[in-house]
Formats: sequence, structure tokens, C-alpha cells
Amino acid sequence: MVVLGGGESGIAAALLAKEKGFDVFVSDYGNIHQSRKDILNKEQIHFEENGHTIDILEASDVIVKSPGIANRLPIIQNLRNKNIEVIGEIEFAYRYCDAKIIAITGSNGKTTTTSLIYHLLKKANRSIAVGGNIGIPFAELVKCGQQSDWVVLELSSFQLEDIIRFKPNIAVQLNITADHLDRYEYDLDLYAKAKFKMHQNQEESDVFIYNEDDVHLKAEAIKATGKTYPISFKNAGELLLKEYKIEAQDLKIQGIHNQFNALIAAQVGTLIGLTKEEIKVGLSSFEAIEHRLEKVREIGGVQYINDSKATNIDAVFFALESMTRPTIWIVGGVDKGNEYSVLKTLVEEKVKAVIFLGIDNKALIAFFERMSVEYREAKSMSEAIEKAKGFAQSGDAILLSPACASFDLFDNYIDRGNQFKEIVKKIN
Ligand code: ADP
Repeated sequence: MVVLGGGESGIAAALLAKEKGFDVFVSDYGNIHQSRKDILNKEQIHFEENGHTIDILEASDVIVKSPGIANRLPIIQNLRNKNIEVIGEIEFAYRYCDAKIIAITGSNGKTTTTSLIYHLLKKANRSIAVGGNIGIPFAELVKCGQQSDWVVLELSSFQLEDIIRFKPNIAVQLNITADHLDRYEYDLDLYAKAKFKMHQNQEESDVFIYNEDDVHLKAEAIKATGKTYPISFKNAGELLLKEYKIEAQDLKIQGIHNQFNALIAAQVGTLIGLTKEEIKVGLSSFEAIEHRLEKVREIGGVQYINDSKATNIDAVFFALESMTRPTIWIVGGVDKGNEYSVLKTLVEEKVKAVIFLGIDNKALIAFFERMSVEYREAKSMSEAIEKAKGFAQSGDAILLSPACASFDLFDNYIDRGNQFKEIVKKIN
């Protein structure tokens, strides 16, 4: 076996492969991090970095490729043409997994919903592990023998592209909105097709939970083999109250999108056999996750909220929607072709001023210049916060919800959110 890509999931796949008796080799186009090389050396797994030796790749029986490597690349197409099986780490780990699987995908809300489900089951003392696109790679969960009864996996479209037999017992499809389209020839249908692979192998005894407000998912549900459970934004709050006696204010996570996420978790809990009381206890004790509408601090009556993970328009839509105070909104970064017009009404209703935080703010300026809202530009987080403070009065909120990728000014969304929090924590 050759593992293409010596990242976190690649190393996990290599270690599992070694344990299962494969002759395994890791090959990376770039550098492999020293800590990962140390692991490979310790386990006596051979590797190469800064390029691939094609002869070794072509001599393998199976390739496990990193989700970051696109299938359209010639190197992958050549291997497939030579009838070498190319799979992803999720598919490989699945082949050795004994636990029942709950899999979550979607453009937005994956981490929150995955964590909610994990928390709910853990709190009710059910045997469950969590991983995939968050935390521990699936292959590592399988290798460590953490063979809990259930495993809940967050899965990205990139990971789903490379599955063949993978089949979750419970599949959750949250939403399909424009994101990562550069990988899918700017075609939303191709992106949706990758996400739909998640439930392609389901049988009648399996379950398909989906967002019925999403046109793509509604159409897909008609074709689904498993038992379908539609969930809607429209009555999520109402159902939480009626079925589980949970008021919106009992939840520590805010916004209708989080009521929807909570209802999905409750549905999964019910299917697994949790009581309504267990579901209520679990949902009401779940805290907001870092960088997702995370309340950082209140200073002089001004609430500072870090939503750095909101990297597309749909996520910001729900962040703004959930705001209950006049808001100074920090937005910007690397724009992936955003259509800001969908936010117009919310901005008019909730936003007092906008701070553009990015190297290139042209698209933002072009849109917001036509609106009556005031704006300022900033080239660093401290400048953005300083300018936001200039607009803020007691009773307002300053919200970082960027709608864009972070790599113009930051390492990643975590670095962006951490910088926001560190500066806010130092305000006197
Ligand atoms: P993901 O893992 O898919 O990126 P997260 O749970 O990390 O999703 O949430 C990212 C952002 O998406 C949040 O900050 C929030 O604003 C928004 N969000 C969360 N849940 C939903 C949902 N069900 N529908 C739309 N947007 C959501």
C-alpha cells in the first residue's frame, strides 16, 4: 500500500495499514512534519517527501490518498487507468471498523452537529467515539481499538469523494450551499454529488436524516434507500419544545440554525434509544464550540463574539440572524466569490457598522457602498477591533463573522479567532 500525503489522516492510515499487515509506504509531494516522520521511523514505515517515485506508486496494490489531493490530477488518473485501487482514509478505516456509524456532512454545521451528537450520547453514558474531519482521524479511532458501540464521524466532501463501500447506519445531510467550488469546476451539482456518496450504499434498515428546506436534499431524499427523516428550520424550535420540553433559552448555543442542529441530534438520540429526559439533559448542557458564535467577553456593555469559523455567506447569514443586539460586524478575507446580496435585509435590520478586515476589500466595498451602512477598512485584527470599538455603545455587539477564508492575513480560521480573542481579553 502507498499512502499519498503524510498529513494527519495519512499517518493514521499508514499506522492502521501496518497493524493490518500491509507493506506500507508513505509518499508526500511536500514536506512531512518532523513529528510525523518520527512516528514513521519509530514504526519502521518507509517514506519519501518532496516528490513521488512513480515506480513505487505504480507497483502498489492499493493507494490511500489524502483528501487534499483532487481526483482530477493526472497522477491519480494515471494510477486509476492502471487499475490500481485508489481510496481514501475513511474507506480504508471503514473496512476494519466494527462500530455502528453515524456520519454527518453538509456545507455548514458539521462540527456543531457532530459534537452535539457525541455530547448527547456521552452524557447518557452510551458507548461512543468521535472523529473524522474533526479531532481524531477515523483510521486512528479504529487502530486504537476504541471500538465503541457507536462512532460519530464528521465528513467533508473531499473525504467522501474517495469512498467505495463505506456505509453509515445513520447518515445526516445538513445542507448544500456554495463552498469549495474551485475543487468542483464551479458546479454546485458536482459538489452535491460528492456529498451524496455518503449515503449511496445505505440499505433499507439504515437511516437518512436530511434538511427538508434544502432543494437539493429534498430531491435526493426521494431516491434514498434508508428510512428518511426530514428536519426543517421552520419548526425546529417548536418541536424541541413540544417533543423534548426544551425552550430556546435552555440551549447555550444561539440561533435558529442551532435549534435545527439540536433537533437533528435529538432525532439521532431518539433512534439510538435515548429517553426524552436524557436528550433534554444533553442538549441543554452543550456549550458553544470555540470559534462558532463564541461569546468572548462583555466590556462596558459591549458583547464580543468570535464566529471566525463562518467562512461562507450561508454561515454568516445564520450568525447575523441570531444577533439580538445592534451589531458591528467584522467581515472579510479571501473572498471565494461571495454573493453578499443575500445578506442585505439582515444587514439593514441588525448591522450598525461594518469593518472590512482583509488585504483586498474590493468586492465588499462594491456591495456595501450601495447600502446606507457605514464602513471602515482594517489590515489587522487589532485595527479592526479598534475601529469596531469606535462605533460601539453599551448594549451593542461586535461580531467577527468573516464570510471569507483567512489566509490573506492569518494562518487559518483558528489563528484568526485566537487573535480576536487575545486582543479582546486585553481590553481594559
Ligand atoms: P462546519 O463544520 O460545517 O464548518 P460548524 O459547526 O463549524 O460547521 O459551523 C460553522 C458556521 O456555520 C457557524 O459559525 C455558524 O455560523 C454556521 N452554522 C452552523 N450550523 C449551521 C446550519 N445548520 N446551517 C447553516 N449554518 C450553520
